[in-house]
Amino acid sequence: MRMTMKGTAGIAAAGLGLLGLSGTGAEASALVWPVSGNVSCTWYYSSGKLHGAVDIAGNSGAAVGAARSGTASASWGWNGGDGNYVRISPGNGYTTDYHHFRSIVVRSGQRVGQLQTLGYVGSTGMTTGAHLHFDLRRWGTKIKMTAYRGQYLRKGAKVPNSYPGL
Ligand SMILES: [Zn+2]
Repeated sequence: MRMTMKGTAGIAAAGLGLLGLSGTGAEASALVWPVSGNVSCTWYYSSGKLHGAVDIAGNSGAAVGAARSGTASASWGWNGGDGNYVRISPGNGYTTDYHHFRSIVVRSGQRVGQLQTLGYVGSTGMTTGAHLHFDLRRWGTKIKMTAYRGQYLRKGAKVPNSYPGL
């Protein structure tokens, strides 16, 4: 949808620029897929533990972008099987997590824009192959995102759900 905003277009564009986002306001506020690839795992319980994430495979070494802008926290190491990981917090209770990076290119406390590169897909931590583990939480509770095993996801495509406040 394209709208003409006489007199205010410049101000709106400047606002988006400050946030480091692109596109229209509606697109910029949406959660988008952080990397392209095939969905290998989604929402399931294993030994009573909820996976609660979308695993995107077939993309070793691919650049992973932030699904939403926010403040990064980054951690290298085993991390209980999560491997090298990044968490992005928009500051409203929501967090997006990205696990198993080969390498991380953001630092804790750094403000990142939507689709800004966080790191590269790898297989650190407990994995059976290179993939990105991507999850969404609000106040620590995992939120189900719509994606199906075998589905091909395109980086930057809107996640087909709306999450109030994101
Ligand atoms: Zn996973």
